Amino acid sequence: MSRFDQKDLATNPYGKCKDCGVSLETEDLARTHMTDSRHCVWILNPSRQRNIERHVDSEIEMALDDVFQDLYRLVEREEATADEIEKALSNACYLDDEWRKFVDGSQ
Ligand SMILES: [Zn+2]
Repeated sequence: MSRFDQKDLATNPYGKCKDCGVSLETEDLARTHMTDSRHCVWILNPSRQRNIERHVDSEIEMALDDVFQDLYRLVEREEATADEIEKALSNACYLDDEWRKFVDGSQ
């Protein structure tokens, strides 16, 4: 059991409709309801993968903020322009590949 695991759907429905209030037990039911009614669904009990994605997104956001602050110092010191850094960044992010290399190197 990890904090990312989806809670038991029998007692914790996947979502609830924002528009009509109906409880939706599973992601499939929620998707069908959204498609059929064009209503919006509030996700209360996301899948394990979605919970991990949210965590990863927030870790990346925090790490990127540090990177951008460091890079911005180069702009402030007039060592590089914001445009030059943007150009360099455009081919610098292959995070899934880098992650796989890191995992392979850690085993
Ligand atoms: Zn609805």
